[in-house]
Amino acid sequence: MATPYGHGLAGGILYFLLNRKLPEGRGWGYFFLYAGVAASADLDLFLDLWTGETGRFHHGISHSLGAAALVGFLAAGTARIMGWRPARAFGIGFLLYASHVLLDTMTVDTKPPLGLQALWPLTDAFTLSPVPLFLDVWRWPFSPEMVRHNALTVLMETLILAPPFIHLFYARRRGEAFSRTRVLGVGVWVVPVVVGFILTGSILKGR
Ligand SMILES: [Zn+2]
Repeated sequence: MATPYGHGLAGGILYFLLNRKLPEGRGWGYFFLYAGVAASADLDLFLDLWTGETGRFHHGISHSLGAAALVGFLAAGTARIMGWRPARAFGIGFLLYASHVLLDTMTVDTKPPLGLQALWPLTDAFTLSPVPLFLDVWRWPFSPEMVRHNALTVLMETLILAPPFIHLFYARRRGEAFSRTRVLGVGVWVVPVVVGFILTGSILKGR
């Protein structure tokens, strides 16, 4: 799994992609709602904690496109009550949650079963990218090594996700449409990802 910070950054990127302007005043609440929904799949860790069975629920069907569709339907239902467009709310809810599934599929995993049931309910199989982009989070036991590793994980997430986040933030602040930001955007998105693959690969080799 990536950190809640990394998932939140991905949610922020989606906010900038799906909304044409920066939020103002109380509108920032929606921005943080996007970040929260993008990070929310890891609430399944509390189910593990509650049942005392580590890994029983985490990375199961809670981390799947089926769960993303469920979140989309919840968003659409809420939108209907609030008088917003249900189809757009479905799309936003689905994409935010699916971004979590995508990031975790691209993250180092060392605890079997490796990966997540990303394609549930189509298949129960566990999916994991053979070439990881993000580093994993060590949760236990607490040690200076764990702190060092998790700090490196956050640093790598910043390296990969902050450039497109900052680029889109300033583009939206200037009121630019997405099409006008696309040319510079290619470099801002592609270069950090390529560097991320290389660095994560070399960090894993050095272990
Ligand atoms: Zn996760």
